[in-house]
Amino acid sequence: MTAASIANSSGSADTAGASSNVTDSDVLVIGAGFGGIASALRMRARGYSVTLVDRLQAIGGRAQVFERGGFRHDAGPTVITAPFLFDELFELFDERREDHLEFRPLDPWYRFHFDDGQQFDYRPGIEDTNDEIARFDKGDIKGYARLLKTSKAIPLYNKYK
Ligand SMILES: Cc1cc2nc3c(=O)[nH]c(=O)nc-3n(C[C@H](O)[C@H](O)[C@H](O)COP(=O)(O)OP(=O)(O)OC[C@H]3O[C@@H](n4cnc5c(N)ncnc54)[C@H](O)[C@@H]3O)c2cc1C
Repeated sequence: MTAASIANSSGSADTAGASSNVTDSDVLVIGAGFGGIASALRMRARGYSVTLVDRLQAIGGRAQVFERGGFRHDAGPTVITAPFLFDELFELFDERREDHLEFRPLDPWYRFHFDDGQQFDYRPGIEDTNDEIARFDKGDIKGYARLLKTSKAIPLYNKYK
């Protein structure tokens, strides 16, 4: 079990380590994935003393990074789809995300490898993506347009765009 206390007066993360000792906190957050980390930081920003615990040795949940066979793997997110939500967490503590970590635009965003040897590059431009879709089935371009339209109707998207 990993326990991280977020309890010092400056509001920054105080301790993190492999320990099952939960400190005497106002708030206990169980699960240190993106969701748990964000909840713990928001509680801390409101002045609560917070302890964040996870059953695993490292925080991050599905967003773990692990090494196997000499390669570093991302277990979950390949692209950060809502960078402004990370910025917001830093801003709660009057910090700038870019002073601590760098988000780099990638092109392609990611590449799918199919077992028949085909590849699909998911890229930032809609035209590029449509070109890739067309290589498989031109008819799916309309479906992709519908997906984008539906995504734009989601309230969170509208709040920040
Ligand atoms: C292959 C893959 C690709 C993805 N790609 C993207 C992407 O490109 N862009 C994107 O935005 N998102 C992507 N996601 C989604 C993103 O990774 C998840 O939405 C996000 O990481 C989930 O965070 P969470 O905190 O909700 O849950 P989790 O990350 O699952 O965290 C839950 C945590 O709770 C802990 N826990 C559970 N039960 C207990 C317990 N009883 N006691 C203590 N600890 C417990 C777990 O160990 C875990 O650490 C992807 C996910 C996967 C799997």
